[in-house]
Amino acid sequence: MESRSGQGLLRRRGVVLRRKDSPEGNRSVYVLMEHEGPVWLLAPGAARGKVRFGGSTDPLVWGTFHVYRGPNRCYLRDVDVRKDFWTLRASSQRIRQAVGWSVSLARHTLPGHACDDLLPIFFWSLCLLEEPGIRDDLSNWRFYWRWLRSWGLAPDLNRCQDCRVSLSGAFFSGESLYCEKCGQRSGTGVSLDAHDLYVLYAVASLKHEDFLRNAGQFRIHPETVRSCTTILENTLAERA
Ligand SMILES: [Zn+2]
Repeated sequence: MESRSGQGLLRRRGVVLRRKDSPEGNRSVYVLMEHEGPVWLLAPGAARGKVRFGGSTDPLVWGTFHVYRGPNRCYLRDVDVRKDFWTLRASSQRIRQAVGWSVSLARHTLPGHACDDLLPIFFWSLCLLEEPGIRDDLSNWRFYWRWLRSWGLAPDLNRCQDCRVSLSGAFFSGESLYCEKCGQRSGTGVSLDAHDLYVLYAVASLKHEDFLRNAGQFRIHPETVRSCTTILENTLAERA
Protein backbone atom coordinates (compact mmCIF):
# COMPACT_ATOMS: atom_id res chain seq x y z
CA MET A 1 0.00 0.00 0.00
CA GLU A 2 1.10 3.50 -0.73
CA SER A 3 1.68 5.51 2.40
CA ARG A 4 1.01 9.20 2.75
CA SER A 5 4.67 10.07 2.30
CA GLY A 6 4.66 8.43 -1.14
CA GLN A 7 6.65 5.43 0.07
CA GLY A 8 5.39 1.91 -0.43
CA LEU A 9 4.34 -0.52 -3.11
CA LEU A 10 3.12 0.59 -6.51
CA ARG A 11 1.88 -1.23 -9.56
CA ARG A 12 2.05 0.77 -12.74
CA ARG A 13 1.75 -0.03 -16.40
CA GLY A 14 4.70 1.07 -18.46
CA VAL A 15 7.53 0.33 -20.85
CA VAL A 16 11.28 -0.14 -20.41
CA LEU A 17 13.20 2.61 -22.22
CA ARG A 18 16.75 1.84 -21.07
CA ARG A 19 18.68 -0.68 -19.03
CA LYS A 20 22.02 -0.30 -17.30
CA ASP A 21 24.04 -2.92 -15.45
CA SER A 22 26.68 -1.82 -12.96
CA PRO A 23 30.01 -3.62 -12.48
CA GLU A 24 28.72 -4.65 -9.05
CA GLY A 25 25.92 -6.63 -10.72
CA ASN A 26 23.08 -4.25 -10.01
CA ARG A 27 20.59 -3.49 -12.75
CA SER A 28 18.83 -0.18 -13.31
CA VAL A 29 15.92 0.10 -15.70
CA TYR A 30 14.48 3.38 -16.89
CA VAL A 31 10.75 2.79 -17.19
CA LEU A 32 8.16 5.16 -18.63
CA MET A 33 5.32 4.53 -16.19
CA GLU A 34 1.70 5.54 -16.18
CA HIS A 35 1.02 8.35 -13.65
CA GLU A 36 4.76 8.60 -12.79
CA GLY A 37 6.57 9.44 -16.03
CA PRO A 38 10.04 8.02 -16.59
CA VAL A 39 11.65 6.64 -13.43
CA TRP A 40 14.85 4.70 -12.73
CA LEU A 41 14.08 1.42 -10.96
CA LEU A 42 16.88 -0.42 -9.22
CA ALA A 43 17.05 -4.19 -9.16
CA PRO A 44 19.98 -5.04 -6.84
CA GLY A 45 21.91 -8.11 -7.98
CA ALA A 46 19.75 -8.64 -11.05
CA ALA A 47 22.68 -8.29 -13.46
CA ARG A 48 24.74 -10.99 -11.74
CA GLY A 49 23.30 -13.75 -13.90
CA LYS A 50 20.34 -14.44 -11.69
CA VAL A 51 17.40 -15.23 -13.94
CA ARG A 52 14.93 -13.55 -11.62
CA PHE A 53 13.73 -11.09 -14.24
CA GLY A 54 14.55 -13.07 -17.38
CA GLY A 55 13.93 -10.83 -20.40
CA SER A 56 11.40 -8.68 -18.60
CA THR A 57 13.84 -5.81 -18.06
CA ASP A 58 14.79 -5.54 -21.75
CA PRO A 59 14.06 -2.27 -23.54
CA LEU A 60 10.66 -2.21 -25.31
CA VAL A 61 9.09 -4.60 -22.79
CA TRP A 62 5.57 -3.49 -21.86
CA GLY A 63 3.84 -4.66 -18.74
CA THR A 64 2.82 -3.94 -15.18
CA PHE A 65 5.78 -3.01 -13.01
CA HIS A 66 5.72 -3.84 -9.31
CA VAL A 67 7.74 -1.17 -7.56
CA TYR A 68 8.77 -0.43 -4.01
CA ARG A 69 9.23 3.29 -3.55
CA GLY A 70 11.71 3.95 -0.76
CA PRO A 71 12.65 7.29 0.73
CA ASN A 72 15.39 7.94 -1.86
CA ARG A 73 14.83 5.59 -4.74
CA CYS A 74 12.54 3.06 -6.37
CA TYR A 75 13.14 -0.69 -6.50
CA LEU A 76 11.83 -3.10 -9.09
CA ARG A 77 10.27 -6.18 -7.52
CA ASP A 78 8.49 -7.86 -10.40
CA VAL A 79 7.17 -7.37 -13.91
CA ASP A 80 4.02 -8.84 -15.45
CA VAL A 81 5.00 -8.74 -19.12
CA ARG A 82 2.22 -7.84 -21.49
CA LYS A 83 4.18 -7.57 -24.74
CA ASP A 84 7.90 -7.62 -25.44
CA PHE A 85 7.98 -6.70 -29.17
CA TRP A 86 10.59 -9.44 -29.55
CA THR A 87 9.69 -9.92 -33.24
CA LEU A 88 11.14 -6.47 -34.05
CA ARG A 89 14.60 -7.87 -33.32
CA ALA A 90 14.36 -9.93 -36.52
CA SER A 91 14.86 -6.73 -38.55
CA SER A 92 17.89 -4.55 -37.81
CA GLN A 93 16.17 -1.55 -39.41
CA ARG A 94 13.00 -1.92 -37.37
CA ILE A 95 14.71 -2.54 -34.05
CA ARG A 96 16.89 0.50 -34.73
CA GLN A 97 13.76 2.56 -35.34
CA ALA A 98 12.13 1.28 -32.15
CA VAL A 99 15.24 1.92 -30.05
CA GLY A 100 15.49 5.39 -31.62
CA TRP A 101 12.02 6.18 -30.29
CA SER A 102 13.00 4.88 -26.84
CA VAL A 103 16.08 7.09 -26.83
CA SER A 104 14.00 10.11 -27.88
CA LEU A 105 11.45 9.47 -25.15
CA ALA A 106 14.19 9.13 -22.55
CA ARG A 107 15.88 12.30 -23.79
CA HIS A 108 12.87 14.60 -24.18
CA THR A 109 10.75 13.70 -21.14
CA LEU A 110 11.36 14.78 -17.57
CA PRO A 111 12.13 12.17 -14.91
CA GLY A 112 9.24 11.82 -12.48
CA HIS A 113 6.80 13.88 -14.56
CA ALA A 114 3.82 11.94 -15.89
CA CYS A 115 3.32 11.95 -19.66
CA ASP A 116 0.60 9.34 -20.01
CA ASP A 117 -0.46 10.51 -23.49
CA LEU A 118 2.84 9.25 -24.89
CA LEU A 119 2.30 5.65 -23.79
CA PRO A 120 -0.42 4.75 -26.32
CA ILE A 121 1.35 6.73 -29.06
CA PHE A 122 4.54 4.73 -28.46
CA PHE A 123 2.73 1.40 -28.08
CA TRP A 124 0.71 1.70 -31.27
CA SER A 125 3.70 2.99 -33.21
CA LEU A 126 5.63 -0.13 -32.20
CA CYS A 127 2.66 -2.21 -33.35
CA LEU A 128 2.96 -0.50 -36.76
CA LEU A 129 6.62 -1.52 -36.94
CA GLU A 130 5.50 -5.13 -36.55
CA GLU A 131 3.31 -4.87 -39.64
CA PRO A 132 5.24 -6.13 -42.67
CA GLY A 133 3.60 -3.86 -45.27
CA ILE A 134 4.04 -0.53 -43.50
CA ARG A 135 6.83 1.85 -44.48
CA ASP A 136 9.05 2.66 -41.49
CA ASP A 137 9.51 6.27 -42.60
CA LEU A 138 5.74 6.81 -42.49
CA SER A 139 5.49 5.20 -39.03
CA ASN A 140 8.29 7.49 -37.91
CA TRP A 141 6.54 10.65 -39.17
CA ARG A 142 3.31 9.49 -37.54
CA PHE A 143 5.03 8.79 -34.20
CA TYR A 144 6.68 12.23 -33.95
CA TRP A 145 3.71 14.20 -35.25
CA ARG A 146 1.34 12.53 -32.74
CA TRP A 147 3.84 13.09 -29.93
CA LEU A 148 4.07 16.80 -30.80
CA ARG A 149 0.30 17.04 -31.09
CA SER A 150 -0.14 15.60 -27.60
CA TRP A 151 2.13 18.40 -26.32
CA GLY A 152 0.36 21.05 -28.40
CA LEU A 153 3.46 21.54 -30.59
CA ALA A 154 2.47 19.81 -33.84
CA PRO A 155 2.54 21.97 -36.96
CA ASP A 156 -0.79 22.78 -38.57
CA LEU A 157 -0.89 20.76 -41.80
CA ASN A 158 -3.91 22.58 -43.19
CA ARG A 159 -3.23 26.30 -42.93
CA CYS A 160 -0.34 28.69 -43.47
CA GLN A 161 1.27 29.63 -40.16
CA ASP A 162 1.46 33.30 -41.14
CA CYS A 163 -1.59 34.24 -43.23
CA ARG A 164 -3.81 31.23 -42.33
CA VAL A 165 -4.73 30.61 -45.97
CA SER A 166 -5.78 27.01 -46.65
CA LEU A 167 -2.71 25.16 -47.98
CA SER A 168 -2.61 23.35 -51.29
CA GLY A 169 1.17 23.01 -51.48
CA ALA A 170 3.40 24.18 -48.65
CA PHE A 171 6.87 25.13 -47.51
CA PHE A 172 7.85 23.39 -44.24
CA SER A 173 10.37 25.58 -42.47
CA GLY A 174 11.42 26.14 -38.87
CA GLU A 175 8.56 24.44 -37.05
CA SER A 176 5.70 25.41 -39.34
CA LEU A 177 4.14 25.14 -42.77
CA TYR A 178 3.72 28.20 -44.98
CA CYS A 179 1.94 29.01 -48.22
CA GLU A 180 4.05 29.81 -51.25
CA LYS A 181 3.93 33.55 -50.63
CA CYS A 182 4.83 33.49 -46.93
CA GLY A 183 7.30 30.64 -47.47
CA GLN A 184 9.57 32.88 -49.51
CA ARG A 185 10.35 34.86 -46.37
CA SER A 186 11.09 31.89 -44.14
CA GLY A 187 14.50 30.72 -45.36
CA THR A 188 15.43 27.08 -45.82
CA GLY A 189 12.95 24.26 -45.65
CA VAL A 190 11.14 21.46 -47.47
CA SER A 191 8.82 22.09 -50.43
CA LEU A 192 5.67 19.97 -50.44
CA ASP A 193 3.20 19.66 -53.29
CA ALA A 194 -0.51 19.12 -52.67
CA HIS A 195 -0.18 15.35 -52.80
CA ASP A 196 2.77 15.27 -50.36
CA LEU A 197 0.75 17.37 -47.97
CA TYR A 198 -2.29 15.14 -48.31
CA VAL A 199 -0.21 12.02 -47.58
CA LEU A 200 1.56 13.57 -44.58
CA TYR A 201 -1.77 14.70 -43.17
CA ALA A 202 -3.39 11.29 -43.70
CA VAL A 203 -0.44 9.42 -42.17
CA ALA A 204 -0.43 11.71 -39.15
CA SER A 205 -4.13 11.80 -38.45
CA LEU A 206 -5.80 8.55 -39.53
CA LYS A 207 -6.94 6.19 -36.78
CA HIS A 208 -4.73 3.11 -36.36
CA GLU A 209 -7.04 0.72 -38.19
CA ASP A 210 -7.71 3.18 -41.02
CA PHE A 211 -3.99 3.83 -41.37
CA LEU A 212 -3.33 0.08 -41.67
CA ARG A 213 -6.07 -0.25 -44.27
CA ASN A 214 -4.79 2.62 -46.40
CA ALA A 215 -1.03 2.41 -45.84
CA GLY A 216 -0.37 0.60 -49.14
CA GLN A 217 -1.72 3.54 -51.11
CA PHE A 218 0.52 6.29 -49.83
CA ARG A 219 2.92 7.57 -52.49
CA ILE A 220 5.51 10.01 -51.24
CA HIS A 221 9.29 10.20 -51.66
CA PRO A 222 11.08 8.74 -48.60
CA GLU A 223 13.52 11.66 -48.62
CA THR A 224 10.61 14.11 -48.27
CA VAL A 225 9.23 12.17 -45.30
CA ARG A 226 12.67 11.95 -43.72
CA SER A 227 13.28 15.70 -44.04
CA CYS A 228 9.87 16.55 -42.58
CA THR A 229 10.35 14.12 -39.69
CA THR A 230 13.73 15.68 -38.94
CA ILE A 231 11.96 19.03 -38.55
CA LEU A 232 9.61 17.46 -35.99
CA GLU A 233 12.54 15.95 -34.09
CA ASN A 234 14.27 19.33 -34.04
CA THR A 235 11.11 20.93 -32.69
CA LEU A 236 11.15 18.45 -29.81
CA ALA A 237 14.84 18.97 -29.16
CA GLU A 238 14.35 22.73 -28.92
CA ARG A 239 11.18 22.72 -26.80
CA ALA A 240 11.56 19.73 -24.52
ZN1 LIG B 1 0.72 32.42 -46.01
